[in-house]
Amino acid sequence: MSQSAYAIGHQQPDTDTIISAIALARLKQAQGSDVVAARAGELNPETEFVLERWDVDAPTLLEDATDEELLLVDHNEYSQTVTGAREATITEVIDHHRIGDVTTGDPIFFRAEPVGSTGTILTGLYDEAGVDIDESTAGLLLSGLLSDTVVLRSPTTTDTDREVAERLAEIAGVDYEAYGKELLAQKSKLGEKSPREMVLGDFKEYDIGDDVLGIGQIETVEPEAVLEQRDAVIEAMDEVVAERGYAVLLVLVTDLLEEESTAFIAGDHTEAVGDALDVTFTDREAFLPGVMSRKKQVVPPVEDALKA
Ligand code: MN
Ligand code: MN
Repeated sequence: MSQSAYAIGHQQPDTDTIISAIALARLKQAQGSDVVAARAGELNPETEFVLERWDVDAPTLLEDATDEELLLVDHNEYSQTVTGAREATITEVIDHHRIGDVTTGDPIFFRAEPVGSTGTILTGLYDEAGVDIDESTAGLLLSGLLSDTVVLRSPTTTDTDREVAERLAEIAGVDYEAYGKELLAQKSKLGEKSPREMVLGDFKEYDIGDDVLGIGQIETVEPEAVLEQRDAVIEAMDEVVAERGYAVLLVLVTDLLEEESTAFIAGDHTEAVGDALDVTFTDREAFLPGVMSRKKQVVPPVEDALKA
């Protein structure tokens, strides 16, 4: 057998990215392949809670993927990959985001579905492979699904996600509403986070032509705790723009219970971004009723506006 390959998700890993790496590695191992779960960064408090709850070790930290073999989960664009991914061999992609810019020399297995989580897709892959989902794996997959869909409340949620969540909850032996509430409470733990850490904690970059769009998201059940620090958060955003040269930097403060967001903006194109989102930014801030999903409700219109 050749050297092991890594199943790995995006930078600033979230729960879905981490559990997908673990679940894919387990599936491949069950099929006799030497695949190791890896991560591209530090775990957030919610993910630490999940790994502890299901008694699973954290995936190994991969600092540089140069010359490695990678199976990408929960992302497929280079701006979000582990360092060195351009010099790695990508042999598989399993994702639920827009198709990005990852290219390969050889044909690969590429599975993309417009569902609420990569955990949902992986559940289907276990079924297709005829591999049983054990209690721990079900708990992990359910955690990714509930985290990404905000306990099936996000507009990204599909009927497939609802069916899969019920089934996984049964195998894992949990009530998914109750367990989901525990996850939301963890997600909201801002703890001692600095404004900069709030901006960059759950952060994604998108290449749009020659420009780069950065979007951070703070998901919380206590948005007031962030909104009362708005000046400090916006100052941190300005610093990040100065360092990284983003055309636009948005931070979404998403109220998980009210299902709405407040957006802060830095960089250029404030008016165009406001038009794209159908709002007016006043003093760098705009209210986005009904907006919970970065990828479904924010990225597409803002990308179109920046391309124009
Ligand atoms: Mn993710
Ligand atoms: Mn995901």
